[in-house]
Amino acid sequence: MFVNHSCLTCRPGADRVIDYESNVVNLPQHFRGPPTSGNGGVATGLYACLGARFLQTDVAQLQVRLHQPVPLSTDLEFHEERLDNETVAVTIGVNGGTVLSGWASSKTNEPVMSQDTASELQEHVNLSEAQKKRFESYKEVFGPSKDHFAECFVCGPDSQLGLRLRLRQITDQIFWQEWNPESRWDDRGALASLPAIAALDCTSALGFYVNGFLGEDESCLLGTYDAAITSLPSFGSNEGFRVISKTRERVGRKIYSDVGLFGASGEIHVLGKATWIVVSPEVAKGHREEAAG
Ligand SMILES: [Zn+2]
Ligand SMILES: [Zn+2]
Repeated sequence: MFVNHSCLTCRPGADRVIDYESNVVNLPQHFRGPPTSGNGGVATGLYACLGARFLQTDVAQLQVRLHQPVPLSTDLEFHEERLDNETVAVTIGVNGGTVLSGWASSKTNEPVMSQDTASELQEHVNLSEAQKKRFESYKEVFGPSKDHFAECFVCGPDSQLGLRLRLRQITDQIFWQEWNPESRWDDRGALASLPAIAALDCTSALGFYVNGFLGEDESCLLGTYDAAITSLPSFGSNEGFRVISKTRERVGRKIYSDVGLFGASGEIHVLGKATWIVVSPEVAKGHREEAAG
């Protein structure tokens, strides 16, 4: 079957995750989120690759549910099921257990966030003088699991091969960062879909402690992730991209957060809605619920 893109995660090499010959995905160590399991954003981004492959066209929207921590350096089998002409469901699992489930579609279904929220994020692509000051003087607030995420592929400051994206607060509710991805994420002139989607993972959770959505004895894990891909940005602009997020609300043990990837002049590239599940710091770190007690 033909591959309609050639991103790093689909090509042989250190970043390869998907093996289309044996129908397995295998996340190397540097794609971790917590110390012993895979990054949820990377896992979600795989659905853009798998979707493009099975649909033989670009993916416009996807939804992924994380059923359990994604094992690293482990062959995980994937199975696809065509739901209609535009949509494919994909299940990824190991030893008969489901790790990830979800779908990818070449059509846009329900919007992932309200038009008002999308506009609000978009309005902050360029900062006012006051917001710039706030950005520059921002001091990070660390939650209880800070050390556990030092090597997270998306946000970890010590992740050598990672994106090292750390958003800062620019208004009481909005978090922001400029992003200039390394050239290895160039997929034939455009930003590859996997890092574009992964960039909107833990970057959506920055406001949880600062804004009181999480208490000091709490942490969280990604539960589901919806992404709408409007356009994959082209590489080679030296103005970079903007990652902008805002926490929506907490309902019981779930926290909903909105996040977007924008161009420097405001183009919407990817919009994401993350649902986080509140857990203890031990569980977030990778200990199982039953072993955490
Ligand atoms: Zn790919
Ligand atoms: Zn992270």
